[in-house]
Amino acid sequence: MTLRQSLHRSLRAAPLAALVGAAALAPAQGAEVNLYSLRQPELIDPILAAFTRNTGIKVNVVFAEQGVLERLRAEGANAQADAVLTVDIGTIQDMVEADVLQPVSSPVLAANIPAAYRHPDGLWYGLTTRARLLLVSKDRVQPGAIRSYEDLAKPEWKGRICTRSGKHQYNVSLLASMIAHKGEAEAKRWIGAVRDNLARKPQGNDRGQAKAIVEGVCDVAITNTYYLALMATNEKQPEEKAWAAAVRPVFANADDRGTHVNISGAAVTKGAKNRAEAVRLLEYLSGDAAQQLYATKNYEYPVKPGVALDPLVASWGTLKADALSLAEIVKLRARATRMMDEVNYDQGPGA
Ligand code: FE
Repeated sequence: MTLRQSLHRSLRAAPLAALVGAAALAPAQGAEVNLYSLRQPELIDPILAAFTRNTGIKVNVVFAEQGVLERLRAEGANAQADAVLTVDIGTIQDMVEADVLQPVSSPVLAANIPAAYRHPDGLWYGLTTRARLLLVSKDRVQPGAIRSYEDLAKPEWKGRICTRSGKHQYNVSLLASMIAHKGEAEAKRWIGAVRDNLARKPQGNDRGQAKAIVEGVCDVAITNTYYLALMATNEKQPEEKAWAAAVRPVFANADDRGTHVNISGAAVTKGAKNRAEAVRLLEYLSGDAAQQLYATKNYEYPVKPGVALDPLVASWGTLKADALSLAEIVKLRARATRMMDEVNYDQGPGA
């Protein structure tokens, strides 16, 4: 079990008082900021270390993939974290709706982050974007054979598609974008047809779908951009390099509305005791140095205009991002989640 998996499991299973990392949030001398991070330690540690070197503000961080919202809700005004780092707009929206965040206004944040990637009242700020790619087998799928999310529903892909759970936030947001563009009836027909084209029941994570392509289970998968780059450069688990080498990325809908994108972001908690330090952290994360680290360490698209992409990501071509607003996607997430159940997506083909 990796460290991340063990943290993840502990946080879900443990009572609040026994949460992993709770000791790390003990008060310390001097300026500090307490952080809940849904982002992985390997990525965020170097960026937080740079922040501390620059500002002298110590960062106490608890990493967790799940359970953060529940914890913030339980803590309320007695918040143990001043700020939170999340993945996916849906996670942040859940926090907005649970009223566990507070608005922040900052000229630095306003200058660094385009309006489309921040909450209108400053309840959250997007720090990176990522696109939902199609991955296709280099051996078994001709260039240009699949060009859009809509193509996934075509009969020629029957038995050839792999995805993770339809209920995962990344796929829920993709379906929400389809509802926004095509309407409910067409989106439901589409996701039902994609389900029928699956090679197997949805399972695993994004990287696991590339593995399934290498193993010949399927020919087409859906994956966030950074996973392809992380696999291609994975020195610790070199088998992942073979998964990446066997697939070709396709920016879906590059010919028309653009590829679905999502954000990772940050917010200040409602009960933050170190509010000023939390705001400084967000400002730092939106600045050139941190944005460059996000691009080169985790292969994401920086939100700050003018920050260069990693060369590997740039080598895939220009991302034309779907201009649909995150606010629209957020509104349709609950509907998309229900729709996944209505078509029994996670039961797989023929459900
Ligand atoms: Fe991810």
